Amino acid sequence: VTAPIWHPSPNFGPRRGGLTPRFVVLHYTQMADAPSALARLCDPAAEVSAHYLIGAQGAVWQMVVEEMRAWHAGAGEWQGLDDMNSRSIGIELDNDGESPFPWPQMRALEGLLTAIRARWEIAPKGVIAHSDMAPARKHDPGARFDWRGLARAGHAIWPEPGDVGTTGALMPLLRAIGYADVPQARAAFRLRFRPMCPPDAPEDATDIALARAVLSKCQTGRHGPS
Ligand SMILES: [Zn+2]
Repeated sequence: VTAPIWHPSPNFGPRRGGLTPRFVVLHYTQMADAPSALARLCDPAAEVSAHYLIGAQGAVWQMVVEEMRAWHAGAGEWQGLDDMNSRSIGIELDNDGESPFPWPQMRALEGLLTAIRARWEIAPKGVIAHSDMAPARKHDPGARFDWRGLARAGHAIWPEPGDVGTTGALMPLLRAIGYADVPQARAAFRLRFRPMCPPDAPEDATDIALARAVLSKCQTGRHGPS
């Protein structure tokens, strides 16, 4: 694993209240290419940044040191926690929002997550989508992102079929997983765990089974601080 290319952004500040990273938030840039994304993430007028940007061919740029608070998450919550910028490390993936994520980019992400998760003792369930913590506003890293592959590499969770049951209501399960109590939570959950399902299709037994399976992963996958 080669060291990231240091490309500092002025857009950061101290993490508030002595917080340290407990989560990693994944994004897509939805821009033409990595240089355009780097320019924007380092533009003081844009007031956005991330700790890392990973190019489509696997180059890794670091813009903000991990100890500092980068400006990538914005308003939202996860597991009832706000100010996600103070609680997370942000990784941007060079992607137009519609294309698949190339293999070298995913391998670079895995390498980066290995190092970050070791440094901050972040469990696989702590690696989340921007759409998870901001379901009303955000859709990244989107339906093309391979969460299953990332989980297979040990860096995220993925529900496995089992006799977890299909009874009950979906929203309380989504709340227990970490989603905010907003109408868009179901669509965000599907985007992450059931990307082939239309976001506005009626709630069904598969949603319940998947949510129960995710929840059981969250509860049993406990190692290190949650
Ligand atoms: Zn984002």
